Amino acid sequence: MGVPGQIMRLARSRAGRALPSGRVKAVLFSGDYVAAPLRAAVERSWGCSVFEHYGSTETGLGGAVQCRAFAGLHIREADLLFEVVDSGTGRVLPLGQSGELVVTTLTRRGMPLIRYRTGDSGRLLRGSCACGSVLRCLDRVQGRLNDVVEVGGGGRLNMAQLDEVLFAVEWVVTFSAEVVNAQDEGEIAAKDGGGVGLLVRVEAVDVPAPADLRALVEGIEALSAVRESGMRVEVEIVQEEGLVAPAKRKLEDLRRG
Ligand SMILES: [Zn+2]
Repeated sequence: MGVPGQIMRLARSRAGRALPSGRVKAVLFSGDYVAAPLRAAVERSWGCSVFEHYGSTETGLGGAVQCRAFAGLHIREADLLFEVVDSGTGRVLPLGQSGELVVTTLTRRGMPLIRYRTGDSGRLLRGSCACGSVLRCLDRVQGRLNDVVEVGGGGRLNMAQLDEVLFAVEWVVTFSAEVVNAQDEGEIAAKDGGGVGLLVRVEAVDVPAPADLRALVEGIEALSAVRESGMRVEVEIVQEEGLVAPAKRKLEDLRRG
């Protein structure tokens, strides 16, 4: 059980790659948004089942968890009421629409919460789950609402978008990403004068071939937020275990105000 980014790093580490398929039976992801390619990579590496969990200190840790149908996450409905609201107005949204998840505790006496704002973006699923459970399902949580960085030209970039591109690449172990003033970074400035740059540090299994590196840069440049902003992308390769990646991964904005 662990945070997706850290489990991914373990799965693609030297020791993780040496584990025979099937040794790890199941993995429970918790604590962060789960990119589909990251999930697929862990399943493939270890030949294991991956279950996703959603919860926080405020929900008493356990909030909702995936079942064997691997669709939504069943809510602990006897104790918690999840609703989805418009984060601007606080208005409750119709079933199935995406918005901010708010939680009400139904049985807690010490510190009850009413429509506590989680800051997470999500939605409730319509209908019942294939597993037959009567418990309502949350869709996979789509990340933190405030983790988005405005990168110019109307572009809004977050770690979840980068995860989809980078974790789909076989040789990526983990990465960090920073939005910078392009002129602050020598490599980026060499290409052009001013503007906004995206510096991505990638911990790689091996040093990638130039063509593979170019393909990765092009994949990042194809993201709509990156395209719209016209930001320059620089990928720096660091050796295995050369990156300090915190459990809560975040797109850092290092531009001066
Ligand atoms: Zn189910």
